[in-house]
Amino acid sequence: MKKEAVYAVIGGGLGGATIASLLQQYGYNVIVFEQYKAFVPAGAGIHVTPNAMRIMRHIGLENILLNCSSAPAAFTSRTWDTGEISFNLLLNAQGLNNPYITVNRGDFHHAILSTLKPDTIHYGKRLKNLEQFEAGVNLYFQDGSEYTADYVIGADGLYSMVRELLIGKSDPVFSGQVAFRSVITTHQLKSTPMDDLTKWWAEDRFVISYYLNKNRSLYYFVAGMPADSWDYEVPVKEGTKEELMAGFKGFHPHVQEILGASTNQRIWPLFERPPLPLWHHQRIVLLGDACHPMRPHMAQGAAMAMEDAAILVRCFEQAKDDDYEHVFKRYAHARVARTSKVQQQSGENTWLKDPMDPTWVFEYDAINDPIENI
Ligand code: FAD
Repeated sequence: MKKEAVYAVIGGGLGGATIASLLQQYGYNVIVFEQYKAFVPAGAGIHVTPNAMRIMRHIGLENILLNCSSAPAAFTSRTWDTGEISFNLLLNAQGLNNPYITVNRGDFHHAILSTLKPDTIHYGKRLKNLEQFEAGVNLYFQDGSEYTADYVIGADGLYSMVRELLIGKSDPVFSGQVAFRSVITTHQLKSTPMDDLTKWWAEDRFVISYYLNKNRSLYYFVAGMPADSWDYEVPVKEGTKEELMAGFKGFHPHVQEILGASTNQRIWPLFERPPLPLWHHQRIVLLGDACHPMRPHMAQGAAMAMEDAAILVRCFEQAKDDDYEHVFKRYAHARVARTSKVQQQSGENTWLKDPMDPTWVFEYDAINDPIENI
């Protein structure tokens, strides 16, 4: 594919920033349009699993990320009330070939953005429409501006406008679960050190907790519980400490201590979509949550977006001419089965609860594994 063509990425989130970084690394001309005027750290944590860390290594971020994150010794699954261990998967030096880190989501995103050339991202550009024509794609933004690109990569997340313009509007599906998420400082906790990374499993609810940084000054939890409904246009709600503590009453004393230390009680809905029938059309292609949003139970949503990015760029690189439709077809062929399997298993919420082999997820190498020719 011609490197001097204009590759427009819609959305500068974790997937969009990653593909922009990879495209620039290989010399492509890329521009990113992001709806927000700036990125404000969400106060949330994220697991970056070995399959995603391989991609981060490739863009030169491995050491930077290891320095600003926690590298847990194990993923420990415990019974919600007794704390009995049902599975203890050794990670990092103890168990895996590649790092598995937990980190502040804002720090992670910032690290990826820092690899981009200045002015790659155009902020405050909310896509509202696009039109394909013979030689390119016209993009129309909410602020009245327009832009013409050769190819468009829709990395605009769960509510993707690119997806909507390609296949029509459909609301995401509420999973029936909501989650409280909060960052706390470890000096608020009496029982330190806590486990590096634990999931507490109950029948219809869970708590995941882990350190966010190397010096272990920050700890984080996600506490998920059932809810009847959620208006999909409301991104987040303010809950109360009473609701949080009542929702997790009877959980192990460590959980009570962690939740009790929270200073905000925001509640996020967990949404998903069934696998999409269409990932690309003419000069437009989708990646990440725009085409396969999932429940977060395997901590793989961003990892899948990054794998998509790496595979798509390799398909661009390996194309013999400018047959972009074949490139997009080959990319989708390489990605649909894996992302659909992860979507489905993530929805089941059993990942690492009991002894299992996680190799098929963690050992996947989007930078080097062969991509099937079609
Ligand atoms: P996003 O990160 O959502 O980025 C989309 C971007 O597009 C945003 O910046 C948005 O502002 C922009 N945008 C949207 N519409 C427009 C428009 N019209 N015009 C211009 N810009 C637009 N994943 C993991 O790998 N590990 C984890 O530990 C993990 N934990 C999670 C915990 C929770 C509670 C949740 C809800 C999710 C978790 N995920 C995790 C999933 C992960 O957050 C997502 O899968 C990931 O952010 C998807 O990346 P993306 O780039 O596709 O979309």
